[in-house]
Amino acid sequence: MITPASPRPLDVDVLIVGAGFAGLRLLHETRKLGLSARILEMADGPGGTWYWNRYPGARCDVVSADYSYAFSPELDQEWRWSERYATQPEILRYVDHVVQRFDFARDISLNTTVTGAVYLDEDQRWAVTDHTGREWIATYFVMATGCLSVPKKPDFPGQDDFRGESYHTAYWPKEEVEFGGKRVAVIGTGSSGTQLIPIAAEQAAHLTVFQRTPNFSIPARNRPVTDEEDRAIKAEYPERRVRALNSPTGLGFEPTKVKALEAPEDERLKHYETQWNSAGFGFILSYPDLLLDQRANDTAADFIRAKIAATVKNPELAEKLSPTGYPFGAKRACVDSGYFETFNRDNVTLVDMRDTPIVEITETGIRTTEAEYDVDMIVYATGFDAMTGALLRFPIRGAGGLTLAERWADGPKTFLGIMTDGFPNFFFLTGPGSPSVLSNVLMSIEQHVDWLGRLLEHARERGAATTEVTRDAVERWVDHVNELAAGTLYPDARSYYMGDEIAGKPRVFMPYSGGLRGFRRRCEEVAANGYPELVFREHAVQPVG
Ligand code: NAP
Repeated sequence: MITPASPRPLDVDVLIVGAGFAGLRLLHETRKLGLSARILEMADGPGGTWYWNRYPGARCDVVSADYSYAFSPELDQEWRWSERYATQPEILRYVDHVVQRFDFARDISLNTTVTGAVYLDEDQRWAVTDHTGREWIATYFVMATGCLSVPKKPDFPGQDDFRGESYHTAYWPKEEVEFGGKRVAVIGTGSSGTQLIPIAAEQAAHLTVFQRTPNFSIPARNRPVTDEEDRAIKAEYPERRVRALNSPTGLGFEPTKVKALEAPEDERLKHYETQWNSAGFGFILSYPDLLLDQRANDTAADFIRAKIAATVKNPELAEKLSPTGYPFGAKRACVDSGYFETFNRDNVTLVDMRDTPIVEITETGIRTTEAEYDVDMIVYATGFDAMTGALLRFPIRGAGGLTLAERWADGPKTFLGIMTDGFPNFFFLTGPGSPSVLSNVLMSIEQHVDWLGRLLEHARERGAATTEVTRDAVERWVDHVNELAAGTLYPDARSYYMGDEIAGKPRVFMPYSGGLRGFRRRCEEVAANGYPELVFREHAVQPVG
């Protein structure tokens, strides 16, 4: 047990920002360690990104049996998922169940927005301020704020003048939004747009989809989980969890040993067909070289484009919906339920913004370089300030007053995606430099939290007041992450992996592309070697070099 040090009422050992999957999991870990902890959460309920993204059609695109906590075998046995890919309301019910089951609520402050955090050099503690001006003092400060949690605010000229209804998928209201009988516009065709569009099309009088970049999308093949399947999942849950953790991306899939270009064409097509009908997001793992070799990638991309051409009846429309010019998977692929089929409907129009970009939003609709579209509702499915957005949302000042934004001016600099130099006792979960968005993020969260828990124990055993990574270790890790990415096709697409979604964001590949399995091994090595990359201090002194 770590000795709790909480002399003042608002003092805690560990202050956590965010009551999403990561924050709750960390709260569980801190309790195991005997540390006092508090989560500050801006929303009025837990769930993180699943709290906010309430748009119709929102569901996870990793199979729910795997997109769920692995830390409690009892929880595995008592929770029953109703569908292969749970909807957002069901995921939120799961989160609420977890909160109640583990009595988390007593350590969560809801409706509490953090506005700043400062490391107090002399005290070796963090002072964290919330929107009411209240100050929280903590030994450890952890951002569990997610990779995709700060919505990208659309900035189309004139958008505030629009007199109809406007929504962002990531700020969807709790009240039901009626599409029925309305002319609806959706801007954006990423995962959120792709999930919403088929549902909006079924209800709206007319749906106009504004697409800038066509996306690769794989059918989800969602279906109810039968009682028999549920029993089978539960019977083998312990092995399933181990298999997922040891798989390259936490999804439980192993790519074939044979490479795409080594397989005879007829066999390859057969394999793609099987994958298309069953693998969902795992389609990208059909062959081990799909993200390493452009020619291999072309075989998968061609297969998907042929599927789009076979699904969308109007060939011109099919062409516009077909992704070209970037490798399949280098930009996050979508997993859909009837997305391409939607464009066969009479009440759906596609506007290709590559030919006719949006000029402005008017009082009555959207004007492109070619036409004016009068609508009753505009849905912005324009995504997030990914990976660094939440970490840089409010000023975080480390040792000597340097802010995280200053330290990361040229792009995020981390060690293992969990810490950065100059910020003692400061951690973030599934941050840039970790597999995060390239993995089953639930597995990544648990891996990071387990590792952090052991690090905190180690620090206690050494009697360390502060734990910090050296700049050298950070630089080496950033180089390693870049080297790995350079050997892949990821940099060949414009994507949020590269910071392309926000104008002016440094263009660097942010996630760790070596897979969760390889990453976990590296993390284990660091721990087994006694954390040589870290400096443990009894008293804060000069900066680490
Ligand atoms: P996204 O993938 O970043 O897609 C945003 C869309 O908006 C893109 O089509 C983008 O076009 C378009 N866009 C953005 N700004 C624009 C502008 N100024 N003008 C025109 N078009 C613009 O965001 P998302 O769909 O919200 O998904 C983000 C991520 O969240 C996903 O990749 C996934 O990781 C996660 N997610 C997961 C699920 C799930 O588990 N099922 C569901 C939803 C989201 P460009 O492509 O040209 O930039």
